[in-house]
Amino acid sequence: MQMIQNFINGSFSNAFDGETIEDINPATEQVIATIPRSKTEDVERAVSAAHSAQLTWSSLTMEQRADWLDRIADALEQKTEMIAHTESRDTGKPISLARRVDAARSVSNFRFFAAFGREQTPQTFQMDDAMNYVHRSPVGTVGLITPWNLPLYLLSWKVAPALLMGNTIVAKPSEVTPLTAHLLAQTLLELELPKGVFNLVHGLGPEVGQAILEHTGIKAISFTGGTDTGRIVARTAAPLFKKLSLELGGKNATVVFQDANMETAIDGAVRAAFTNSGQVCLCGSRIFIEESIAEQFTQKFVEKVNSIQIGDPMDEDTEMGTVISSEHLEKVESYIELAQQEGGVILTGGTRAMTGYAGPNGTGAFLRPTVVANLPYNARCASEEIFGPMVTLHTFTSESEVLEMVNSSEYGLAGSVWTADTIRGRRFASQIDSGIVWVNTWLHRDLRTPFGGVKNSGVGREGGQWSLDFFSELTNICVKTNDGI
Ligand code: NDP
Repeated sequence: MQMIQNFINGSFSNAFDGETIEDINPATEQVIATIPRSKTEDVERAVSAAHSAQLTWSSLTMEQRADWLDRIADALEQKTEMIAHTESRDTGKPISLARRVDAARSVSNFRFFAAFGREQTPQTFQMDDAMNYVHRSPVGTVGLITPWNLPLYLLSWKVAPALLMGNTIVAKPSEVTPLTAHLLAQTLLELELPKGVFNLVHGLGPEVGQAILEHTGIKAISFTGGTDTGRIVARTAAPLFKKLSLELGGKNATVVFQDANMETAIDGAVRAAFTNSGQVCLCGSRIFIEESIAEQFTQKFVEKVNSIQIGDPMDEDTEMGTVISSEHLEKVESYIELAQQEGGVILTGGTRAMTGYAGPNGTGAFLRPTVVANLPYNARCASEEIFGPMVTLHTFTSESEVLEMVNSSEYGLAGSVWTADTIRGRRFASQIDSGIVWVNTWLHRDLRTPFGGVKNSGVGREGGQWSLDFFSELTNICVKTNDGI
């Protein structure tokens, strides 16, 4: 069992009062680590270390900080297997997915922002008699709060641009999945990143997370998590005039038109529905199918879902592991029960039965991928974020009808549209209230593009230039160049 510690001012330490929390592997239900249950006092130490390091770090050039990001990427790449195994044990996701997504994309986040930083050119605006220079400074010490579904990937998505722009960091990973954040801290220690530039405080959201939000020495908060928690973040940080980036929940739509390539659309819809047990904020959990192909699509969709190999997350052939915890399993199950009360028909799944694997006690948070039909599009199960392996199917007869159903959601994070007519696809996509829409693909990411949601899915965008803007402050310096009026 691992004993995880906070990483403050370049060294590892327990919470100031020594309290700990247990970290559980959701596949075996065994305790695999303890982490500090940090409090305000620990955040105070982390902020103080970050402030001491701020001048040293921000004095480096962008090029030097980009070199640091590349060094971090190289070191993490060396640890690909370790990251994948650690993430798989901590989250219950398949090792192949952890390798392909979590490990690989964490490395590419650092590499991308290193290269992107080097490409930046000074922004200037010439006037007849003056020149405007846009000067970027770091925001200062920033707070990064991240969820459990893609732990290192989402943390690195924030750490890389924050470091690049010269900020120092106080980060808090989800207490449910703390292990790869610890691994990142170990890596930064090995690389001898200047002390205090990156600080990690573990613990519970309402305790240590809240202390980060409330600390006046933390000038910006980049938060990824649920919408309800996002409200708390906004309520706490906004009156302190902190910069805020909120990446929140979603109830994303997959829209399949009758002219779509059936095989491609089914593959895409299944992937969008059940990747990471449906626990990706971009997952498509409401599937709208044009009536004329609904029967054929549904039959093939269910066949494909039934072929998903559920099992031991460490098995190379496993395609779907557990959900994040037994508590979350019960939450998803309560929605399956609700779906039946709402008049839904379960076409497949709905039970804990699994193919080929059980933890030591025959337990583990395994749930079969669940497909529900016959629900109105505005039923609770089709409107509320479930964040698990459960999707609802709906039919439509016209573009305007499906658009209304899609946009009825209080969320607006992502979606996908499947059609042979890409002009129609683009037109339809532009009418969806959403931050990201894919046409004939899903989770196809270019890190230069804006990422974020509208409505209850968040405020602001990250990615490429948007991340650099968030993690910097701009000063326009206007220099008069002659005596004209
Ligand atoms: P939560 O909102 O429960 O938690 C997110 C983070 O916030 C955790 O580190 C949590 O700590 C912390 N937190 C909780 N309460 C507070 C508080 N009062 N003050 C400060 N921090 C707090 O989300 P989950 O971890 O359950 O993640 C799932 C959610 O994240 C889903 O809704 C999903 O849609 C969303 N998400 C959004 C993404 C996006 O880009 N839009 C991407 C990925 C996920 P602790 O774990 O200790 O509670």
